[in-house]
Amino acid sequence: VRGIDILRDPKLNKGQAFTLKERQLMGIHGLLPPCIITQDQQMIRVMSNIRKRTSDVDKYIYLLALMDRNERLFYRSLIEHVEELMPIVYTPTVGKACQEYGLLYRRPRGLFLSIKDAGHLYQMMCNWPEKDVKAIVVTDGERILGLGDLGVYGMGIPVGKLSLYTALGGIAPHHCLPIALDVGTNNQKLLDDPLYIGAQMNRVTGEKYDAFIDEFMESVVKRFGRSTLVQFEDFGNNNAFRLLEKYRYTYCTFNDDIQGTAAVAASGVFSSLRITGKKLSDNVFLMQGAGEANIGIGNLLALAMQAEGTSRKEALSKIWMVDSKGLIVNNRPKGGISGHKKDFAKDHKPVDTLEEAVRAIKPTALIGAAAIPGAFTKQILHDMAKFNERPIIFALSNPTSMAECTAQEAYRETDGRCVFASGSPFDAVTYKGKTFYPGQGNNSYIFPGVALGIITCKVRHVPDEIFLQAAQSLAKLVSNQDLEEGRVYPPLNQIRDVSLQIATDVAEYAYKNKLASYYPEPPNKREFIWQQLYSTDYESYVPETWSWPDQTDQQL
Ligand code: NAP
Ligand code: MN
Repeated sequence: VRGIDILRDPKLNKGQAFTLKERQLMGIHGLLPPCIITQDQQMIRVMSNIRKRTSDVDKYIYLLALMDRNERLFYRSLIEHVEELMPIVYTPTVGKACQEYGLLYRRPRGLFLSIKDAGHLYQMMCNWPEKDVKAIVVTDGERILGLGDLGVYGMGIPVGKLSLYTALGGIAPHHCLPIALDVGTNNQKLLDDPLYIGAQMNRVTGEKYDAFIDEFMESVVKRFGRSTLVQFEDFGNNNAFRLLEKYRYTYCTFNDDIQGTAAVAASGVFSSLRITGKKLSDNVFLMQGAGEANIGIGNLLALAMQAEGTSRKEALSKIWMVDSKGLIVNNRPKGGISGHKKDFAKDHKPVDTLEEAVRAIKPTALIGAAAIPGAFTKQILHDMAKFNERPIIFALSNPTSMAECTAQEAYRETDGRCVFASGSPFDAVTYKGKTFYPGQGNNSYIFPGVALGIITCKVRHVPDEIFLQAAQSLAKLVSNQDLEEGRVYPPLNQIRDVSLQIATDVAEYAYKNKLASYYPEPPNKREFIWQQLYSTDYESYVPETWSWPDQTDQQL
C-alpha cells in the first residue's frame, strides 16, 4: 500500500497524528500540515466543529463525514461524548437525517440489495470488502422509528445502530455490516422525490417478498457463516412478527423493535419496583399501542412474572392494551384483534379512548409506544397520579416529536411523583426545586451488549430468555442514586460497562443452556469478551526494527 492510500483509508488514517517518522517512512511527509498532534487534540477540534453547528442535521453530516475520514477518531469522540453525540447519530436526529437522506447523500455506506437483484444476492454480498462480518443490521425501511415508510432512506438506521454496536458494545466496525433491502416504497413523497435513492415503485409484497428475504438469509449464511447475527430493524409490523417466528430457531437473529425494546422497558419496570416497593405481579400495566414494541414488552413482562411464580394466565390478566380501535377486549364491535393481540384481550366492556381506559383500569404503569404524540394528556397524567403514589409513566415512542408526553409534562402533572422514562432523550427537569434526570428507555442499553455476547460466544439462536437476562442485568446496574435522581437506567456515560456486563451475563446464560457454539468454553467470560473489544487507539506504522549482535563479541 502506498502512503497516500493509508491517508485516504478511514480505517488506517490518523490525520495530523502521524508522527514525523511515520510521515517520512511512508512517503507522506509534506502531505499533512507540519504540526503533529495527538488524538486528544484532534478530538478538541471535532467537538468545536460540532458545537459550532447550530442544526442537528448539520452535526450529523459532519460526524458521518468524520466516520468516512478517520474511523478511530469518530468512535473515540462518540465514546467520550456519548450523551452529546448519541442523539445525533441515533434518535432523534437520525430520524430527521433519514427523511432527508437523498439530499444529505454524499458517499455510500452499507450494502444496498434491491429486489430487482433477486437471484444474485450472494454475489452482491461477495462485493462487500470485509470478509469477517459478524453482525448485520438490516431494514426494509417500512417503519422507520415512528416516521413510517422511508424506503431506502431508512439506511440511516442500520448505519446508526451499528455505530452503537461499536461505540457502546465495543464490536469492531469491520465486523459490522449495515444493509438496506429495497423492495420499493409506498410513501408518495418519495415516489415523487427526484433525489430518492431507491427504486421508485410500490412495495413488493407476498410470495415475492418472502422469497427475497429467504434468499437474503441464505446468502448471509453462505457468505459469512451460520453464526452471523442478523438484527432486524424497523420492518413493518406484519413482516416483523412473521419473519421473527420464521427464522428465530434456524438462524442467529432477533428483532430489536420487538425483543430489544421489550428488554429495556422490562428493565425499567424492574428498577421501578425498588421505588414503588411492589412485586412485579402487583402491577397493572396499560399500554398505548399493541404493535411490535408493546406486544414485545407485554410478552417479556409476562415471562418475567412467570419466572416469579405467577401463572401465565394471571400474568396476562395484568397487561392491558389499547390499539387504534380502543381497549383490546374480546368481541369488541370494532374487531381487529388478530395475532399476538389475542393473548392480551380481556373480557371487559368496549372502551374507546385511552383516557377512559385509564379510568376504567387504574393501572400502576402506563407505557406508550404507538407514535401518537401527546397521547398522555394532562388528564391522564393527573389520573395516574391520583391512583398511584408513584405512577410509572414510560413514553417510549421515537423520535422526540412522537413522544406521548415530555419529561416536563410528566413531572409537572404528577406533582413530581412519577417514575418516568422516554424513548428519545429529554433534558433534566427542575420541578419544585428538585432536579430530575429522566432515563432514556431506549433499546441502545440492550442491543449492543446482547450482540456482543452473541457474537463472541457464537450463540446459535436467541430465545426470549436472553432478553430477560439482559433486562435483569441492566436493572442490577441501576444505583440508588440513579433512582433518587429519577433515572431507572444507569447514566449513558456508563453504557460501555453496561454492555460488557450484559454480554458477560448473556454468555453465562448461553453456555449454561447449550446455546453457545464457541469452544472451548472460556472459563472467564468477562475477560474473554473484554479482550476482543475494539480499541480506538491509533496503531503505529513504524515497523519494529532491531540490529544484529556484533559478531566479534558474541558467538552465534
Ligand atoms: P407498530 O408495530 O406499527 O405498532 C403501532 C401500534 O400503535 C399499533 O398497535 C397501532 O394500532 C397503535 N396505534 C396507532 N394509532 C393509535 C391510536 N390512535 N391509539 C392507540 N394506538 C394506536 O409500531 P412499533 O414498532 O410498536 O413502534 C411504535 C413506536 O414505538 C414508534 O414510535 C417507535 O419509534 C417506538 N419504539 C421505541 C423503542 C424504544 O427503544 N424506545 C423501540 C421500538 C419502537 P393497530 O394495531 O390498531 O394498528
Ligand atoms: Mn427500531
